[in-house]
Amino acid sequence: MKVVLQNLTKKFPSRSKTNKQDVIAVNDFTFEIPDGQLIGLLGPSGCGKSTTLNLLSGLQKPTSGRIFFGDDDVTDLPAENRGVGLVFQNYALYPHLTVRQNITFPLENLKGKDKLTKQQMQEKAYEAAKLVQIEELMDRKPSELSGGQQQRVAIARALVKMPRVLLLDEPLSNLDARLRLQTREELRRIQQKTKITTVFVTHDQEEAMSISDMIVVMKDGVIQQIGKPQDVYDDPINLFVAKFLGTPPINVFEGRVENEKLYIGNEAVLSAPGVKNCEVYIGVRPEGFVLNENGKLTTKLDRVEVMGRDISVISYHGNAQAAVRSIIGSENRFSVGGGDVKFDLKPFKVDIFDKATEKRIHCELALR
Ligand code: ADP
Ligand code: MG
Repeated sequence: MKVVLQNLTKKFPSRSKTNKQDVIAVNDFTFEIPDGQLIGLLGPSGCGKSTTLNLLSGLQKPTSGRIFFGDDDVTDLPAENRGVGLVFQNYALYPHLTVRQNITFPLENLKGKDKLTKQQMQEKAYEAAKLVQIEELMDRKPSELSGGQQQRVAIARALVKMPRVLLLDEPLSNLDARLRLQTREELRRIQQKTKITTVFVTHDQEEAMSISDMIVVMKDGVIQQIGKPQDVYDDPINLFVAKFLGTPPINVFEGRVENEKLYIGNEAVLSAPGVKNCEVYIGVRPEGFVLNENGKLTTKLDRVEVMGRDISVISYHGNAQAAVRSIIGSENRFSVGGGDVKFDLKPFKVDIFDKATEKRIHCELALR
């Protein structure tokens, strides 16, 4: 099922006494989710992710704009008639019902030609439970399950009616790190198996990047960028997106372009052909540094962290917004003694941004 958001806007009346302006939680969203894809809706807390999801589900009405599922305009359709499955961060299971009863719950109210027999309900519940691998737990109550198991029950309940669209609001946030990793892979497997168009909301960029076909990066109710995770990572449209994606985060330096050379302090680190003289922010991915004793960028070594596969070199530079974190292969041997450390930069791991607008300046950076 293709899903289309057309100029979708949601305003809330201000709750603040001093600022009477409406909160624009979702500001003029237009995008299309292709059939069968998993979309990661990503952004910091308060940027409007849940509101977007609530508009899609029908729990909230948009101030303006339209929503289409396939060719159906569902904007005015109540939530229960949209055919959506919902999963929330807090599971929202019925504590007094067993796993089986929780999963069959959405099937109980089906009417007319959709009405199911007890037997059919049991079969559907079993299928959904099997998909999330909890078929052994059908007779337990939620309180007798781990967090991860409870979340699987919630997912099974959302899937049992074979929804047209599956909407997940931070579904993994209450799980511990290992379970979060495992459950996100499961979600991806289930989504690929069922091919249900899915919108997955998270503030965790790694989570979104790892399982999404496409990510939508949001800030203050405004879409910043839409694209495949790797494309957005490699070609961020502005400094916000560059900083939001990637762990460890991109290193940001203040610098300038002068005579088609890119300067950090008084060192010309790359050439920037075709770029006019200007003040810039320079973003360097942690994997964009190459140790070289004749390198063009000089920093002050702080410490080296060995992480097995890689080593992380942490150093300081007066023009950097924070400690400079570079990740280099562990085949590099490094004597830890303080003092200067010199790097060359990999041009395709460096992005420059206009200092005033923070928009990316597109150019072909080069070593010389
Ligand atoms: P997210 O899920 O990305 O953290 P939300 O969609 O929950 O963000 O909220 C987006 C903005 O809308 C926030 O500024 C929030 O305070 C505001 N907001 C959300 N729901 C309401 C509401 N019912 N009434 C007023 N403001 C709201
Ligand atoms: Mg939210």
